[in-house]
Amino acid sequence: MLRSTWDEVCARVRREEDPFFHDPWLDRLTFVTSDDDTVVLATPNRLYVEWIQENLEPRLQTHIHAVTERRVDIEYRLEAIVRAENGSNGAGSFSGDYADPAQDTAFRLNPRQSFESFVVGNGNQFAMAACQNVAENPAVNYNPLFLFGGVGLGKTHLLNAIGNVIKDRNPRARVVFLSAEEFTTELINSLRFKRMEEFREKYRRRCDALLVDDIQFLGGKERTQEEFFHTFNALHGARKQIVVTADRYPKDIDGLEERLRSRFDWGLVADIQPPDTETKVAILRKKSDEEGIELPAEVAFFIARHAGNNIRELEGTLTRLLAMSSFHAAPVTLEFAKKCLEGYLQVQQATASVETIMGGVAKFFNVKLADLRGPRRTKQLVTPRQIAMFLIRKHTSLSLPEIGKRFGGRDHTTVIHAVKKVGREVGRDAAYRNKLHLVARTLGLPTD
Ligand code: ADP
Ligand code: MG
Repeated sequence: MLRSTWDEVCARVRREEDPFFHDPWLDRLTFVTSDDDTVVLATPNRLYVEWIQENLEPRLQTHIHAVTERRVDIEYRLEAIVRAENGSNGAGSFSGDYADPAQDTAFRLNPRQSFESFVVGNGNQFAMAACQNVAENPAVNYNPLFLFGGVGLGKTHLLNAIGNVIKDRNPRARVVFLSAEEFTTELINSLRFKRMEEFREKYRRRCDALLVDDIQFLGGKERTQEEFFHTFNALHGARKQIVVTADRYPKDIDGLEERLRSRFDWGLVADIQPPDTETKVAILRKKSDEEGIELPAEVAFFIARHAGNNIRELEGTLTRLLAMSSFHAAPVTLEFAKKCLEGYLQVQQATASVETIMGGVAKFFNVKLADLRGPRRTKQLVTPRQIAMFLIRKHTSLSLPEIGKRFGGRDHTTVIHAVKKVGREVGRDAAYRNKLHLVARTLGLPTD
């Protein structure tokens, strides 16, 4: 297939299909290469690939067949990787000509949080590739870079790693690294003490790379968002790199202005998914190596299987174990690990399974996790929410008020109502019962 054939396919899809079906997905699929029976397309990230394979691909195949009269396989590549392979070197004005230590907050970067010390697995390899690309070619390919992922999955680590590489490669580059909360505080103080000129000088003019952590903090803070918006525009216009992190997707940040949200979509949004067991094991072994302690594989697997997904907690578990072993002068055997971590891991596991159930139910019913937890009470949300509450009640040790709290601070009577309602429906409606069993099965929960 030629590039022009691909363009023809796209034109056909646009002409014949409801925009709801291809928008905005098709626009972000770009032709890379093709031979007789395969076409390779670049996509922004793995979420796209999953969505496209499930939703767009079957009909895309039909259109390809209509245009080419043949069956071709579609292969997806990540844009970051395609670009890296093409060795792009754009023309960012990334000079760092006027190094000014007073404006530079790079000294706050944690040198231990580097790409070298970051363990790569399925869940984070895309984010890692995007970050490396940005660190090596600031303001060239992805500007801004928006990193998002759950708590303790490595966002701050990667932000540090970017800053460290930029500084290493160009010691004169002015790297401004701070949390959205610090940005807010500094803005308030500057307003109060009439130092806005200095503030703007620092963030808009004397900055080669702006790294802002936990941007969800700006939700609902209009004045800070306004200032950040202008800062963003000034830097982006001057081709300076901007990287922000958040614990959720831009559109899930409540109280984030539309204009800022759409700015975040200009560049690349890269997600970090929770680590699988193998990645957790690799992280544990790396950390114990750094401590100069040998961690038997069976102990690493035991911790990885029983700990939740938060890597900070995973490290905490390991630290606890190593501390206990040195305190008791006992070798780190599986038996010893079980003895000292049992109760501790149970608590973590309960937390993890609540998240798993909520996430799984949301996915099953095709609703957003934020909506499942949120205040809206549309019919579409009520049943999934009740089922999630029911499953959490049944399969975790959380109390009714605790469950209510996980659902946006609902009252425990709401939870009681949900649990009863589901019980009733299961008793009288076979289709409902089947659905509940199906949800439970996809979550790996027992269905009796
Ligand atoms: P977040 O900012 O997403 O909440 P952090 O970046 O603070 O998470 O990561 C939590 C801890 O886990 C840090 O100590 C970090 O160094 C470590 N960590 C996270 N991901 C990895 C990884 N892939 N490899 C090694 N350490 C990691
Ligand atoms: Mg963080």
